[in-house]
Amino acid sequence: MSSLLVDDIGELVTNVAGAGGPLGVRRRAAVLVEDGEVAWVGPAADAPAADRRIDAAGAAVLPGFVDSHAHLVFAGDRAAEFAARMAGEPYTGGGIRTTVGATRAASDGELRATVRRLHAEALRQGTTTIEIKSGYGLTVADEARSLRIATEVSTETTFLGAHVVPAEYAARPDDYVSLVCGPMLAAAAPYARWIDVFCERGAFDADHARAILACGQAMGLGVRVHANQLGPGPGVRLGVELGAASVDHCTHLTDADVDALASTTTDDGQSATVATLLPGAEFSTRSPYPDARRLLDAGVTVALATDCNPGSSYTSSMPFCIALAVREMGMTPAEAVWAATAGGARALRRDDIGVLRPGARADLIILDAPSHLHLAYRPGVPLVRQVLHNGVPR
Ligand SMILES: [Zn+2]
Repeated sequence: MSSLLVDDIGELVTNVAGAGGPLGVRRRAAVLVEDGEVAWVGPAADAPAADRRIDAAGAAVLPGFVDSHAHLVFAGDRAAEFAARMAGEPYTGGGIRTTVGATRAASDGELRATVRRLHAEALRQGTTTIEIKSGYGLTVADEARSLRIATEVSTETTFLGAHVVPAEYAARPDDYVSLVCGPMLAAAAPYARWIDVFCERGAFDADHARAILACGQAMGLGVRVHANQLGPGPGVRLGVELGAASVDHCTHLTDADVDALASTTTDDGQSATVATLLPGAEFSTRSPYPDARRLLDAGVTVALATDCNPGSSYTSSMPFCIALAVREMGMTPAEAVWAATAGGARALRRDDIGVLRPGARADLIILDAPSHLHLAYRPGVPLVRQVLHNGVPR
């Protein structure tokens, strides 16, 4: 068994709450890694011997980012649509069908190349766990192959057959819901841990969304919901009703929505249903940002994720999302860093990632900076110097 010591850490963010605040910050620390797990965390002066050593040279070390919401399986890009939006056209979600057409026409090899390219791009920027959704196939075969390809790079895979009603079912959405709940779910479930629905005007209403999510639950899948992105709606409360791990976007919330989320708070002070905010989407659609401060003040657990997709948020950068959350959404740098690491883990119901303590996965990043503050303070700068994924330097 070989061991690796990350030594001379100036600021270690552990996310183990206690004397170091909610981020569990330790100064002049070291982390011992064995067998892909954290074996020891403590003062650098007391560090045990190890086979290999990485000198952090006084820099900040954090848990790897947990991106709990991404759509990486697609073909084509929609740069022209982005340009049109920036010239004044509104975002409606209708462009999803453009990507569906390109994705259906793509070979397995083309889809696989895109997934691997984006996965590697995210890893370079410090993302050590990424959730990947289907949702651009929208046929039985195309949804199943999207998820099969996603499982090649992540265990956090989500069936999103209910992304939009595809054009060929536009006149008979009930039939499409039956297809999603029946043969499509049966083909997708072996490759998925989660089920998700785009519950929004123009996509799926509350009755359709409830039916689809219940079918997924009956197949053993956990629930996530795209909710309240483009306007007020039933998505957040539906997610709470079904015990969703996360409701995502949460841009347009009523007091009743916030209260519903807060009502899921458990003994550890975190809400069982996490509000996952995706500021890359508001940035790329020039829309008002969600109010993170309101959620945090109500006691709701908040996660940050990229929503990486070719239409509404083509970024894989968690540091970019942290910077937006601090500048535009009322979060402190510490809250944003927690939301991008431990919050994402909570949104995936994982306790082995987003945290650096003995027994956790050795997923960590070394910054080219002395403090986590620099992630928001120096926006757009590639501050992630080195990534350890499962204890392996990348
Ligand atoms: Zn999404």
